[in-house]
Amino acid sequence: MQNDSDVIVVGGGFAGVCAARELSRAGLRTTVLEARDRLGGRTWTRHSTLGRELDIGGTWVHWIQPHVWSEITRYGLDLIASPEPERAYWRIGDDLRSGPADDMLALLDAPMTELLDRARAVLPQPYDYLPKSDELRALDHISVADRIAAQGLDPEQSALFDGMWALNFSGVPKRGAYTQALRWCALAGGDWRLMFEACATYKLAGGTRSLLDAIAADAARTDIRLNTTVTRIREHSGGAEVTCADGTRMRASRVIATIPINVLNRIDFEPPLNHDLHRVAAEGQASTGLKVWIRVRGDTGRFVALADSTAPLNFLQYEYADDGDSLIVGFGPCSDALDFHDPQAVQAELHKWRPDLEVLGVDGHDWTADPLSGETWPMLAPDQLMPVQEAAADISRAVRLAGSDYARGWAGFIDGAIESGLRAARQITTEIECEK
Ligand SMILES: Cc1cc2nc3c(=O)[nH]c(=O)nc-3n(C[C@H](O)[C@H](O)[C@H](O)COP(=O)(O)OP(=O)(O)OC[C@H]3O[C@@H](n4cnc5c(N)ncnc54)[C@H](O)[C@@H]3O)c2cc1C
Repeated sequence: MQNDSDVIVVGGGFAGVCAARELSRAGLRTTVLEARDRLGGRTWTRHSTLGRELDIGGTWVHWIQPHVWSEITRYGLDLIASPEPERAYWRIGDDLRSGPADDMLALLDAPMTELLDRARAVLPQPYDYLPKSDELRALDHISVADRIAAQGLDPEQSALFDGMWALNFSGVPKRGAYTQALRWCALAGGDWRLMFEACATYKLAGGTRSLLDAIAADAARTDIRLNTTVTRIREHSGGAEVTCADGTRMRASRVIATIPINVLNRIDFEPPLNHDLHRVAAEGQASTGLKVWIRVRGDTGRFVALADSTAPLNFLQYEYADDGDSLIVGFGPCSDALDFHDPQAVQAELHKWRPDLEVLGVDGHDWTADPLSGETWPMLAPDQLMPVQEAAADISRAVRLAGSDYARGWAGFIDGAIESGLRAARQITTEIECEK
């Protein structure tokens, strides 16, 4: 039977769209099957109910993230900086403290330096796990919470540190692997402040959609089908057959599946996925969090707020002045711990730091409950790094994995999605060329 396409890409987030651009530019017949009614996946720039365009999902990028930076250069896009905070508010249990933002960061400096001091030694080449794989494997059993507990911090540092890693993991630190922390820091040259800057400082002036649209426009010869949910991927001797929810079947010589780990098991793979990856997908990776945008009456001043991982909202950051009001972005480690559709519930959380704030509206999306993501940004739990990396590197099958969850470098970021999309497309293009 003839193939419908050379390559079918399942999922139209950054990984899928980048892969499609590369494949179609290489002259391969490429089809993208996307379940949502839009491209972009876990990035979503949209007009918010709070009155302006906002990034509801992924937002910040940085020049130390080589793949996204190369795309920003390629399409000539501009960045804007998030406002530098002046004041910080932090909670240790019920005890509220505040001071200049630099004072709060200074409290984190010693424990963060100690936590991450082996990052470059353990991952001397952060895109290559082999040089120190034995040490990495040994460390991969440990959660970041176990490692923090061993540091013997005072209550203030302990609360701040727990809160900071809950923010980084978009989940509770006891579920996040210590190797993920080392990985981020190794990619930032061993400098935790640079790592922190990379996570939440610079954003695309036109939102993430400006970059996504530029890449998608370059994939113009791709057949993009929205509202198309894939339910089954069956490999056969000449490639693979994809079945969609409406019963449509399509064949291709290769399939790139860019499905987030936490919803991977919603697709029936035949033969089944590598056993260990199946186990990781069943237990889920560590992110379970929430991101919300909050409109607050008047000028709040440029501030950040932090609390430990037991708080439903444990981090706030001032982002925009808008028509005399302030737009604040908030994060929490467990999306089901707060009804963010209820402005009163959100205000009650803000009042734990600042009783003077009046919430006028809240907007967001529950990515953790969303059946097409099941997670926010991927952060692996202990004992997941090697199975995920091994499955992502498997080129023996017609079905390949790509996506931020499976990236070698900045997994969890837009950069990782782009990296993995480029990698899968290059490999497949070479293979199909050789088969001709
Ligand atoms: C709240 C939040 C904040 C974030 N903040 C940042 C940040 O500031 N900076 C940063 O770099 N990154 C951030 N990220 C992470 C970043 O957005 C993601 O890592 C990246 O966008 C993932 O891209 P992807 O293509 O790998 O996956 P996705 O974007 O998830 O794309 C996968 C696609 O597959 C589709 N799909 C799923 N199942 C099926 C199916 N069965 N059939 C067909 N299609 C299917 C989905 O609809 C989706 O479009 C954030 C993410 C979230 C959620």
